[in-house]
This record gives sequence, C-alpha cells and structure tokens, in this order.
Amino acid sequence: MSEHTCDVLVVGSGFGGSLMAMVLAKLGFRSLVVERGNHPRFALGESSTPLANLVLEQLATTYDIPELLPCCQYGTWKRDRPELVCGLKRGFSYFEHQAHQPFRVLSDRSNQLLVAASNSEEDADTHWLRSDFDQYLVSLLPSRGVQLLDRVNVDSLEHIAPQYSGTCWTLRGTRCDEPLTLHARFMIDASGSDGFLARHLALPSSLGDLKTYSRGLFSHFHGVHSWQSILAAGGNDTSDHTFPCNAAALHHVFKGGWMYLLEFENGVTSAGFSLDPRLHPQPSSMSPEEEWRQWLNRFPSIAEQFADAEPIAPAPGNIVRTGRLQRFVSQAADTDWALLPTTAGIIDALHSSGNAHTLYGIERLGRAFSQYGNTLRFHAALHEYAETTACEIKFIDELVAGCYKHFERFPKMVLASMCYFVAAHSLEGLRRSGLAADTGFLRATDRAFRKRIRKARFLIDQQENTSRDVTAAVATLLAPDNSAGFLNADRRNNYPYQAE
Ligand SMILES: Cc1cc2nc3c(=O)[nH]c(=O)nc-3n(C[C@H](O)[C@H](O)[C@H](O)COP(=O)(O)OP(=O)(O)OC[C@H]3O[C@@H](n4cnc5c(N)ncnc54)[C@H](O)[C@@H]3O)c2cc1C
Repeated sequence: MSEHTCDVLVVGSGFGGSLMAMVLAKLGFRSLVVERGNHPRFALGESSTPLANLVLEQLATTYDIPELLPCCQYGTWKRDRPELVCGLKRGFSYFEHQAHQPFRVLSDRSNQLLVAASNSEEDADTHWLRSDFDQYLVSLLPSRGVQLLDRVNVDSLEHIAPQYSGTCWTLRGTRCDEPLTLHARFMIDASGSDGFLARHLALPSSLGDLKTYSRGLFSHFHGVHSWQSILAAGGNDTSDHTFPCNAAALHHVFKGGWMYLLEFENGVTSAGFSLDPRLHPQPSSMSPEEEWRQWLNRFPSIAEQFADAEPIAPAPGNIVRTGRLQRFVSQAADTDWALLPTTAGIIDALHSSGNAHTLYGIERLGRAFSQYGNTLRFHAALHEYAETTACEIKFIDELVAGCYKHFERFPKMVLASMCYFVAAHSLEGLRRSGLAADTGFLRATDRAFRKRIRKARFLIDQQENTSRDVTAAVATLLAPDNSAGFLNADRRNNYPYQAE
C-alpha cells in the first residue's frame, strides 16, 4: 500500500494537467498528478493558435519552464525539438462542399476562406501531435519536483469541509494492483471529457444553456492526400492563396456539419467530422466505419483526398464515433477545487479554441494560487475564475453556434466566422500591448465588445443575402476591434496576417 500527501492533486496528465502542476510547483506547492493511462497515448485537440502560443510563451517565461519556449512557434520547434512530431499551421482554411459535386473554386472565391495566422513558416503555429507533446510535458515533471502516478484506478474520493481538517481530499484507488491513498488540500480536475470531479461531486450539467449541437466521427490516418494536390488535380487556381491551404487547420464545410484535417510531418493526418445530429442523426444500423465511408461518398473531392487513407489510431482500421460533443458544468471552482476550462466545458473544434482556453485557465489559476496565503483574496480569485470560465464557454458557444447556423449558406458562415477572428485577433493585440487583463478569453467579459458582436451576429442572421452592403455594415459595427482588416470585400475571402 502506498500513501502520498500533497498540497494540490491534479487529475489527468494531458498537457493541461502537467502544465498546471508545473506552474503550482514553481509557486511553491507540492503538486501531484494522477493519470489513469500512461504515455505516450492518443489524444485529440492538436491545433494551436496565435493566442495559444502567446499564452504558452508567457507561462513558460513566468513560471520558468524554458523547455517549452521552442514549442511556441514552428521555426524554433523544428530547430530545437525536431524529435517531437508537429505539423505546420500557417492559418485557417475553409472550403464549401455540395453533396455529390466535386469541389470547384468559384471565380469570385465565395466558396472558400483563408485566414493567415502568421507571416512565415518561422513564426507559424503548429499542430501538436498530442502523444508526443503530452509525453514531453510529462518528462519535465520530475525536474520540477512534481510526482506523476500513472495507471491509477480511482475507487473513491472523500471530501471533508476545509474548516474541519487541513486535508480536504482523500482519494483511494489502485496502481498496478497495489492499493493507493492520496491526501490533498486542493484538487484540480484536468481529466477532460471524463469529468472526474463533476461526477464525484455530482455537479449539475448546464448543457441546456448551450446552442451548439454536434457529434464526432474521427481517427488519425495514414495516406491522406494533401488538399492542395486535390485542388490542383481538379484544375483549381490556388495562386492567390495567402498561404498553402493544407498547412492549416483545414475545414471542409457542408450543410449540417464540417470536417477538420490537421497534417503532421510524419505522414499522419488527424481528421474528423463534426455533425449536427438534428440534421444528421447517428445511423443506428451503420458501424462508424460504414458511416465514415458514407460521408466520403457524399463529397467526391473529399473522397479523392481519402482514396488511399487508412485509419491508424487510436486503433488501426477503426473510426471513433461519439455522442454529443458538448459538455458544460457552469460551476468551475469552489474554495478547494477547480476544473480546467475544457474539463468544465467543451463546445466544438471549429476554429480550434480549446487549447488556448485551457492555457488561459492555467494562467488564471496560477494567478489565484499566487494569492493563496490570503484566504479571502484566494477565494475571491477562485470565484472569479468560476464566473469567467462559464462566461467564456458561453461566448465560445455563441460564436460556434453562429457559424453552424449558416453552414448551408457559406457566405453567411464566412461573415459569422469573422466574429471569432475579430475576437481572437483583437485579443492578441491587447495581450501584446499588456491591456487584456480583464477581458477574458476571446474578450468574453468585455461587455461593450460582446454587445458589438451580438449586434453583428443579429445583422448576419437577419439578412437574406451577403451583399457588399451587409459586409460593410458588419465591418462598421466591428471597426473598433478590427485593425486586421477583416470583412474587406476586396480581399475576396483571403486574409494575410496583420500583426497588431
Ligand atoms: C473532436 C475535438 C477536436 C478538438 N480539436 C482541437 C483543436 O484542433 N485545437 C484546440 O485548441 N482544441 C481542440 N479541442 C479541444 C482540446 O481537445 C482540449 O482543449 C484539450 O485536449 C485539453 O487538454 P487537457 O490536457 O486539459 O485534457 P485532455 O487532453 O482531455 O487530457 C485528459 C487526461 O486526463 C486523463 N484522465 C481522464 N480521466 C481520468 C481519471 N478518471 N483519472 C485519471 N486520469 C484521467 C486522460 O487519460 C488524459 O490523459 C478538440 C476537442 C475535441 C472534442
């Protein structure tokens, strides 16, 4: 039987849990991570963004984790950490597909959207092969004095009100068939979709507050052809693309859903469909693999891209099918526990906001723990963390659902997605100039900004068409936040990167 006592127990050793534990260790807390599996292991959620990289860099600098600095942009990653597999991500690309028709780029470019997130490969974002990236973070734990216990099965969790005992939590379980007991003052749940603490504390779900509704169908593949080569083979002109459209978080969009593709440099592609089950309910008589083939058969150009593809992970030959992807527990913290943001709530992979949101939560919890000695201030900071996290999840939901609504009218989807890009880019600028302290992730707690976004979304929803006038009206509404020049009709849906 082994028994351990720590200040903070972190459940889950994804990059979120490991990084949180290292931040706490630097602040002087004895932190311990428990993991049910062991590394390397398959994980989804691979695409980084400028905001994710910015926060990762600031966490690495503030909490003295220099090993993470090379991972904050593609150029340094390739030079300094070549052993970690990644993918080049120059930006976001979106293509509209009609059922049973090959994709052809229209002369006015109204069925494609490219948004660059970097000026060059050197300062580009990356796709993280999470099995490598998460294992790398775990390898840094011992040097920070953080203990990791993997292959832990939890049997029970006891919670004692803090006023009665210095130790609030006792977790009992087994590790490699050996009984294990862990004691902690504070608990952080980084278990993602498992929702470990929400289950044990019976926290109510707030799923009913969300508008986004999607289910997933995904795998990692070998042998996926690049979208650039499929476009070229179909005679499509890509010479005006502001970056190679497959060096991106690539989105194939269609009525009632979309598909993501993230290319890694070891020949693996992470790909999956997000489908609105109200339009595309799960077919009860079809296996996930059959359903996957059915979707490919519906879209000839995507089928061409997957003509030689084989699913390889998490299990060779298998496609993973999920129920509703969304989760939401609106209470993300209390006096002696907290949930990381994407453990509290996940919306959808559209626009890749998850990892940046996780990093935002780690940053905010780090600030809260730096006030630990002062009970009142610590509790107030946790309360604020909970409120802000819930507000952010609802805002991500608003932005994503706003796009889902218009998947079948691509030009309206483009306008709706501009609300996300304006939020992300303006926040990046505010952070770089040190002015973003109280605005929350994607400026979710900036009321005046939220009001402008709401008005823009209302305008987009109301219009039948997306004439230049509508685009100009939305641009006028968002002008105070839009130094990047989004919503410029002359750009024909092709936006180079504009640093703030
Ligand atoms: C389909 C999909 C696609 C996504 N794509 C993107 C994207 O491209 N970009 C992006 O930014 N975000 C994306 N996200 C969101 C992204 O996955 C999350 O933001 C990210 O995984 C959070 O990382 P994490 O380390 O907090 O949690 P996770 O990666 O979920 O890790 C949780 C860890 O906890 C462990 N664990 C679980 N239960 C227990 C338990 N009971 N006891 C012990 N350990 C446990 C697991 O084994 C795992 O190691 C996507 C999400 C989904 C659902």
